[in-house]
Formats: sequence, C-alpha cells, structure tokens
Amino acid sequence: MICVICKSGTPESGTTTVTLERGGNLIVFRRVPAKICSNCRESYLDDGVVDEVYHTADEAAKAGVEFDVREFHQVSAWLLTSSSSTVMRA
Ligand SMILES: [Zn+2]
Repeated sequence: MICVICKSGTPESGTTTVTLERGGNLIVFRRVPAKICSNCRESYLDDGVVDEVYHTADEAAKAGVEFDVREFHQVSAWLLTSSSSTVMRA
C-alpha cells in the first residue's frame, strides 16, 4: 500500500491520536491503532476503529460529556460503566 496523500511513503502499523468534535462536544482518543505514513505522517484508520470512535462519541454526547480524553483500548470498558458518571481525564 502506498500513501494516497504523498504517494511516496508506506503506511506502517502504529498508533495515532484522534480528535472528534460533534455538536460542541470534543472527545480525544489516544493510542488509536492506525497505519501511519512513514513519509508524511498521514494516518489510516480501519473501518472498525472508525465505527467505534464515532459510536463512543455519540454515547458520550448522549451522556452529556462535553470534553474528554481517553485511551482507545479503554473505550469498551468505559461504555459498560459510563451510564451514571462522567470521567474527566484531560
Ligand atoms: Zn504519506
């Protein structure tokens, strides 16, 4: 696979930080698994990862979270326990 942005680098496995803003809510996911271009640092996320990011952002918005920073691998656990509390780790 050749990077579609710079057309010279090769994306390799790594992690990236994803910032998602929706309707005034800002959620930052750290250590999201992605392929990172070795040349221009463009990141490529798997569809499943993108789905989980969006889903989690929707859940956070419903829960009234306006701003949060979280580790991506903790997302699933957070969803199970988030119904009654708002965790701020900014
Ligand atoms: Zn590139």
